[in-house]
Amino acid sequence: MAKDQREEFDFSRLLKQKGVSRRDFLKFCTGVTAALALPASFVPKVAEALEGAKRPTLVWMEFQDCAGDTEALLRAANPTVAELILDILSVDYHETVMAAAGFQAEEALAKVVKEEKGKYIAIVEGSIPLKDNGVYCCVAGKSALQSAREVCGNALATIAVGTCASYGGLPAAKPNPTGAVGVKEAVPSATVINLPGCPVNADNLTAIVVHYLVFNKLPATDNYGRPMFAYGKRIHDNCERRPHFDAGQYVERWGDEAHVQGHCLYKMGCKGPESYHNCPTQRFNEKTSWPVGSGHGCAGCSQPQFWDTMMPMYNRLPKVPGFDIEHTANTIGIGVAVGTAAAFAGHAVISSFRGKDKDKKEDSQ
Ligand code: SF4
Repeated sequence: MAKDQREEFDFSRLLKQKGVSRRDFLKFCTGVTAALALPASFVPKVAEALEGAKRPTLVWMEFQDCAGDTEALLRAANPTVAELILDILSVDYHETVMAAAGFQAEEALAKVVKEEKGKYIAIVEGSIPLKDNGVYCCVAGKSALQSAREVCGNALATIAVGTCASYGGLPAAKPNPTGAVGVKEAVPSATVINLPGCPVNADNLTAIVVHYLVFNKLPATDNYGRPMFAYGKRIHDNCERRPHFDAGQYVERWGDEAHVQGHCLYKMGCKGPESYHNCPTQRFNEKTSWPVGSGHGCAGCSQPQFWDTMMPMYNRLPKVPGFDIEHTANTIGIGVAVGTAAAFAGHAVISSFRGKDKDKKEDSQ
C-alpha cells in the first residue's frame, strides 16, 4: 500500500464499512485489555490508541513452515474486530496472500527494508536452516538466513509466530538434518518476541500489536522471549479439568466413562503441567475450544524443543512440578484422593464436634 493511502487511513470509517458497532468495538477493547492483563481502566486508552493509530508497515516472511500460522490468522469465517486490527497494519509483503509475485513481490520487500529501516515490523513463520550455508530453504535466490539477516536485522522488531520460528520447532527435532533454529538464534542482533504454539494464537498476535500501538513498545517477556501476558501461567493452573486432577479422577482409556465425563487427561499424556500458555483462557476458533477442552491432552507445543523433550505424545509425564518427586503418575491420584478423603473425614469429625458442642449448649439453656 502506498504511503499516501496509509496516511488517509481512518479506523472509525473502516469499522463502519465492515458493520462493526461501537458497542462491539468497545467489547473487543475490553477483551484485549484483559488478555494483556491490564486493569479495566485501560479500556478507553486502548480504544483511543486504536482509533488514532497510524498504520505500522509489516512484512511477513515464511521459511521452513507449514503455513499453519498464516491459516490461523486468516481462519475466521466472519470479519471480527480482531481481524480489523490486522487491517490497520500495512501488510506490504506476505508470500501466501499478496497479489504480486516474483520480482514485483521481492521489489516490494526490498523497498520496505530500504525506505522504512528501523520502523517496520517483521513477522517470521517457520524455522531457519543454518547447515550448509542455509541451502535447505531459499526464496527468490536467497537463503532464509540471508533474508532474515536483512529483513529482521533492519526491522523495528520481529515477531516470531509459531514454535518453528521461535525455537526451530519440528524441523529442529533430532536429528535436525538442516540445522534449523529460531529467528533469535539465527539473527542474534534482532529484537525478537516469540509467540510459540502450533499454530500461533492469532488473538495473542493481535494483543501484541495493540500493546505496541498503545504503549509504543513491546510487552515484557520471559526467559524464552515470550510475552508474559500470554505465557506467564501454566496451562495446568488454568485448565477446566484441574478439579479432576486434584480429585484423582483420570481418564485411563480413550472413550472410557472418565473421558466422557471430562476428567483429567494427565495419564493420557497431557503435558499441561509443564507448559506455559494462555490456551485455556484465550482458546481458539473464536474462543470456542482448545485441545484439552476438546478431549485431547496438551502436546506442550509452546515449550522450546518440545518434540525432543515432551514426546512420546501419549506417555505421561514422569512427575508433576509442584508435587514431591516421589509422586509419580501412579501415586498422585491416590495421594490426592487419600488427602481429599482425609480432609473430608477431618471436616466430618470437626462438624460432629461442633454438633456436639451445639447440643451441649442447647442442653444447658
Ligand atoms: Fe488439565 Fe492436563 Fe493438567 Fe489434567 S494434566 S488438569 S488435563 S492440564
